[in-house]
Amino acid sequence: MAGLIPQAFIDDLLSRVDIVDVIDKRVSLKKTGKNYSACCPFHKEKTPAFSVQPERQFYYCFGCGVGGNAIGFVMNFDQVDFPQAVESLAQDNGMEVPREESKAAIKKQSDNARLLDTLEQACKFYQYQLRQHEKKQAAVDYLRARGVSGEIARDFRLGYAPPGWDNLLSALGSDETQQQSLLKAVLVVQKDRQQDSSAEPAGGSEVHCYDCFRHLIMLSFRQRRGLPIAWRRAASVCC
Ligand code: ZN
Repeated sequence: MAGLIPQAFIDDLLSRVDIVDVIDKRVSLKKTGKNYSACCPFHKEKTPAFSVQPERQFYYCFGCGVGGNAIGFVMNFDQVDFPQAVESLAQDNGMEVPREESKAAIKKQSDNARLLDTLEQACKFYQYQLRQHEKKQAAVDYLRARGVSGEIARDFRLGYAPPGWDNLLSALGSDETQQQSLLKAVLVVQKDRQQDSSAEPAGGSEVHCYDCFRHLIMLSFRQRRGLPIAWRRAASVCC
């Protein structure tokens, strides 16, 4: 399961488990005064140097120096990582491990959601252009000539990127965040005017972003839920 385990839960778990029970389930312990002892499970020895201290909820080996709390012992003995050790101890105590998303994970989720939303909007935009744009006929004729009916175009969500430098950009890139999302989806591109003046939109405006796809039939790649996840040019209408 993804997400961080809250520190408060780890503290609560450690306050509920008894390290003596945890270790005794795996290594037979012998009571020696206030503490417990055994031959160390982490190195070979004949005289027990492995000590478990219930008061401190701590174990320590005087032979090899290994030591720690109950979680650390489970990690070392069961050869598992920290979350797995916590899950194991929680399960033994009938507790469910809560998870909290890190800020980075939340941001990534939000970025991905925005990207998927942008791709879906772009898909609808291109579909609309195939039905409504004044120059749609060339695209429709191209598809019909290849046996692609209106039904097929609808079912496969085919679209049309009309001629022009900023159709999609104007429709979907109204603010900086949306422009960044379009750039990330590679639906618009950004070029340095100095580096490539040939890529400048007609009229020499100051716009540095422009539509990546122009006068093309568009085919979207979709994930299982049907949302578009990427684009490719299906055909160049003018060819
Ligand atoms: Zn040892």
